[in-house]
Amino acid sequence: MRGRERSVILALAVAAAGVICMMVWQRRQEPRKAYTKDLFAMDTYFSMTAYGPEAEDALERCAERVEELENMLSVTKEDSDIGRINAEKVNNEKESGSRIAVSEDTLTIIETALAMGEETEGALDITLYPVLREWGFTTGEYRIPEKRQLDKLLERVDDKRVEADLSAGTVSVPEGVELDLGALAKGYTGDCLLSILRERGVRSALLDLGGNIQTLGAKPDGSLWRIAVKDPFDTAHTLGVLEVADKAVITSGSYERYFLGEDGRPYWHILDPADGYPADNGLVSVTVVGDSGLRCDGLSTALFVMGKDKAVDLWRQCRDFEMILVTEEGELYLTEGLEQSFTCGEGRQVQILYDR
Ligand code: AMP
Ligand code: MG
Repeated sequence: MRGRERSVILALAVAAAGVICMMVWQRRQEPRKAYTKDLFAMDTYFSMTAYGPEAEDALERCAERVEELENMLSVTKEDSDIGRINAEKVNNEKESGSRIAVSEDTLTIIETALAMGEETEGALDITLYPVLREWGFTTGEYRIPEKRQLDKLLERVDDKRVEADLSAGTVSVPEGVELDLGALAKGYTGDCLLSILRERGVRSALLDLGGNIQTLGAKPDGSLWRIAVKDPFDTAHTLGVLEVADKAVITSGSYERYFLGEDGRPYWHILDPADGYPADNGLVSVTVVGDSGLRCDGLSTALFVMGKDKAVDLWRQCRDFEMILVTEEGELYLTEGLEQSFTCGEGRQVQILYDR
């Protein structure tokens, strides 16, 4: 072989090796490549980030699923499952209510919510809708209702009168009873989105669904996700940082949605089913950490209503979740399972809650 031919072959070999190295390097980078999809849904902002070659398509499917779920669960859409259930009470004179066929998603949420209503001794009650509407929380036209009016509306609040028939795929509510799944819908949505991502081969993702955080796996480099927990007294600041993998981190707080009454006092969106007023049992925020978004979301709302002592009792009974509580005096409590994963902000003190 002549010298010139040899150098051409050598140059081609070097170029081919370069291309191969480039391809290997790109493949190595693929699992780390981030894709983000932002959207407005369920009255809030969703930001979904997933990593790796499967992420882009999977996130598109997630966006479609969010729209499907919103169309089923929205209390303000007349043709959603919830809209149809609530319209039924107007037309239906029968005490038992007729059976309305709904999706499996709606049934799953209602069934869980009814069980959690019992577990939390009525702190979570998905039949509060007539009272929430009276306060204007579903429309933004806020007002302080008369006590007499609240007492009258509370006669229609009782989740024990709701029947969910899983095998028939139906729900029945008596006349006057109306549902709102706002306390759990985003958590359930997060669970569904994580299933889609997982099924499509994504191993690392972070969903921020209006402040509800749900994580899939750890970060692409194997380190834990660092989730900032907001200071309820100053939401531009954080109380500390929680390090997690594969967990839902879901917060309910009085600062999330409220209006100032003519009396200058704040009135917030989490109501106590016992009297129909904003729940005022000493907590300003509750963050629940666990495996299921649906359960954590239902719990965060319920524990906020229950107050610290009852929340701790329930945690001791269940131990399938951990929590961070902030009281109106500014005290910060963590259950013992979070002791190692939470780093407190500077100058803050934290008290650990132990299982007896
Ligand atoms: P979250 O932000 O998850 O705590 O949910 C709050 C939403 O749940 C409110 O905007 C209402 O739609 C609804 N809600 C408020 N209080 C209750 C309650 N005690 N039980 C069930 N749902 C509630
Ligand atoms: Mg909730």
